[in-house]
Amino acid sequence: MNNTERQEWLAHRKTGIGGTDMAGILNEGYGCRRKVFYDKVGAPPDHEEVVSNPMLRGQALEGVFLKEFFDRHGWEENRPCLPLNQQKEDWVLGTPDAFVGKDEESAIVEVKTVGEWPWKQLRKAGVPKREWEIQLNWYLYKWDIPTGIIWAGWADGWEFTKYELELDKDLAEACFSLAKEFWSDVSIAIAAGYTEPDDAPSGLNYERLPASDKRCKGCPWSETCQRGAVEEALRTPFDGEVTFVQMSSDPRWGQAATDYKEALFAKTMADEELKEVKSELQLLMNGRPAAEGDGLRIHHKPVVSNRFDTKGFRAKHPQLAEEFTKPTTSKPFKVYLT
Ligand code: SF4
Repeated sequence: MNNTERQEWLAHRKTGIGGTDMAGILNEGYGCRRKVFYDKVGAPPDHEEVVSNPMLRGQALEGVFLKEFFDRHGWEENRPCLPLNQQKEDWVLGTPDAFVGKDEESAIVEVKTVGEWPWKQLRKAGVPKREWEIQLNWYLYKWDIPTGIIWAGWADGWEFTKYELELDKDLAEACFSLAKEFWSDVSIAIAAGYTEPDDAPSGLNYERLPASDKRCKGCPWSETCQRGAVEEALRTPFDGEVTFVQMSSDPRWGQAATDYKEALFAKTMADEELKEVKSELQLLMNGRPAAEGDGLRIHHKPVVSNRFDTKGFRAKHPQLAEEFTKPTTSKPFKVYLT
């Protein structure tokens, strides 16, 4: 999608509720109901939304992933053959990644590209993310198509998984009725010229997420919505005394942060794998105290070591312990993921 297309798409999104909006209205995924409200009524953002590198990668890879889907599963794109459902209201939007057909069947395909860590988590969970299900159901409902496919993949490993879903009518209808109320709030706000969801007449719950919620940190309306609470949460995450210098404007920091997270991720993966392999080796040794072969030599026997019992010594000879305790200074480098 080039810049003009993106601007057109963003403008189109203002005219109703799409699949990702629906997930946001349910406070699922990357957004929240308040955020969707601010977006739809055109509230001026406190800062522009950052289009992250993973988002750009996702957009760039969409076509590549779709081609892989077609090659592997024999579906073909068949957008023109599908009937449009005229009964849905104009504000029910939905732009799926692909309409596909095979033999007499039709389906909607939604492509998801994920990084290595979310990919492993996804495989472990064995089910698609809730926000994806909501999004796909919204499309199925809009286009009156009973079957949807989520085609998710991890590009670096060139691994994919396919989730086939049938339209969940109860979910779709519940979403529709909630979205209708929400859209009415939005339309009234636009007509009356206000932008605060708290002023909406429907009685829908527009409760804020906790300021420490990850979603609030990058939210373009975080100041308007949380009135400084997000900044406060960022400044004082541990003990209320530490003041953090904001480094995000320095691109070198961004690169170093990315490198750190990648290295940490690789280490976590390697640690986990090592743990599993160690258990396997231990199992194969079957209680033997030593084994070797194929470049490994392993000892696994009880080792007795003598350690000085500082706690016991301090309890028994507090004065002596005091006399021989010297202050030392260290400067631990502690990194937390936020
Ligand atoms: S700051 Fe948080 S609660 Fe407020 S709109 Fe943004 S994501 Fe939602």
